[in-house]
Amino acid sequence: MVEERKGLVFDIQGYSVHDGPGCRSLVFLSGCPLSCDWCANPEGQELKQRVLYRVSKCKYHERNCRRCISACPYEAIAESGDAEQPVNIDRNICRDCKTYDCTKACIYEALNLSGKWMTVDELMAVIERDRKFWGDGGGVTFTGGEPLLQKDFLLEALKRCKASFIHTSIETSGFASTETFMEVINLLDFAFVDLKHMDPDKHMEHTGVRNELILSNIKTLAASDWPGLLVIRIPVIEGFNDSDENIRATAEFLKECDLEIVNILPFHRLGDSKYKQLGMKYKYSESEGTPEDVLLHIQEIFLKYDIACFIGSNTPF
Ligand code: SF4
Ligand code: SF4
Repeated sequence: MVEERKGLVFDIQGYSVHDGPGCRSLVFLSGCPLSCDWCANPEGQELKQRVLYRVSKCKYHERNCRRCISACPYEAIAESGDAEQPVNIDRNICRDCKTYDCTKACIYEALNLSGKWMTVDELMAVIERDRKFWGDGGGVTFTGGEPLLQKDFLLEALKRCKASFIHTSIETSGFASTETFMEVINLLDFAFVDLKHMDPDKHMEHTGVRNELILSNIKTLAASDWPGLLVIRIPVIEGFNDSDENIRATAEFLKECDLEIVNILPFHRLGDSKYKQLGMKYKYSESEGTPEDVLLHIQEIFLKYDIACFIGSNTPF
């Protein structure tokens, strides 16, 4: 029997009004070739399930619980001696775990797995269930992680959406082979493509990859006859990409590509608690949200280039 293809989905959110036209379901696919310092979804960075430890739910003290410690066959969990965080997880050992027995043993839901392996049928059942709540003009947005990393699963899901007349969108870093990028795009109605920095070295320094492939994919898409709407998204990160020089270089590149819409996103620290649950350090844990005057200044620069610049969720799409 041929096994059905599965994709690792780390979240499905039913009611987004910020990620494409109308009310939408967001499907978060795990795995990303980038490692942006400010990433808000660290649990989706790897194409692998990870253990999230929510200390607030742990009953080590109240119920004298030690269930995870005895359940782990690899001795990766131990008492920490720290009252604030009673158990320590050795993440290097967990990396090769196949059983995740600790999460099954934790009856208080303090230990959970990020993501679930799903078949396209299972995913479509959730999408079809949510569909009645979208109203007119909604649809599905695939995001992540980097959705292009699970290309085959994504293509199958997009074909199924198309066959069911579901409007589809993507949020992507654009970091994939041009063949993969265009193959996926051609099945979509709408695309948000990130443009994080124009300088390849700075891009490399803070995202882990250079930007030449991304720029070339944006150029290819802009020059193609794809009938959908392309919106360039820029997460505004203080001290990284918010300089006038970088914004002007971005605007010039967009003009070169004949692109006229950009959506700038203020930095937020919503991912902070997930870094703690994963036992990871968050480089931006002390950073504040992007001040409004910085966003307005960036908007003004784009407007000088005749590029419509929408801030955050304040968009017509
Ligand atoms: S099994 Fe769960 S509740 Fe019990 S000690 Fe481990 S993490 Fe805490
Ligand atoms: S994920 Fe696996 S190795 Fe890690 S603590 Fe749980 S059972 Fe042990």
